[in-house]
Amino acid sequence: MSVWFAKGVVLIAAIAMVVIRSPHGSRSWTIKVAESRKGPLEVFLLTVASIGFFTPILWVATPWLGFADFALHPVPLIIGTALLAVSLWFFHRSHVDLGTNWSVTLELRESHRLVTEGVYRRVRHPMYSAFLLYAIGQTIVIPNWAVGPSYLVTMALLVALRLGPEEKLMRDHFKAEYDAYVSRTKRLIPGVW
Ligand code: SAH
Repeated sequence: MSVWFAKGVVLIAAIAMVVIRSPHGSRSWTIKVAESRKGPLEVFLLTVASIGFFTPILWVATPWLGFADFALHPVPLIIGTALLAVSLWFFHRSHVDLGTNWSVTLELRESHRLVTEGVYRRVRHPMYSAFLLYAIGQTIVIPNWAVGPSYLVTMALLVALRLGPEEKLMRDHFKAEYDAYVSRTKRLIPGVW
């Protein structure tokens, strides 16, 4: 089937992600940062993740990456599209639940509160779970061996290297409240890890 089905799905999913994030992004500019731990590693990870996000857009918009294309089949297209839809729902919910406590990087906002409800009730990083699910969906949808996994590889790197410092930031600030939260939750997959 035509590769344009996959390109359409990728484009719509990327636009949905930007639309979901944009009100939270613009609101976060208005809330004062109380503490920032945005070091060189964070800058590197954010840059790499952005490249991973925009590579599929480049694949949609230009023929430059077409050398690695293979045939598109309906089954992976349907499975991947379903995963993208589910991930976008969790991405939206985690933004709503985190509210003004959200930052694109490692920061504490003024009057930062530890969120433990909604999608944060069973896992501590539902937004990262949503990103990884989105990246898996995209890997399945895109019939191109180089572009398909680009976001998965870069997001996996970001999550792997950020979880520790982010949990340290939370523990340093919320102390026993965070330890109690850790003891009753998993990191990314409810009941598993
Ligand atoms: N790791 C979380 C949040 C990602 S946004 C997730 O995947 O859902 C990153 C920012 O969220 C961090 O700078 C941190 O300050 C904040 N944060 C992370 N977990 C939080 C929580 N449970 N409550 C409040 N803020 C949190």
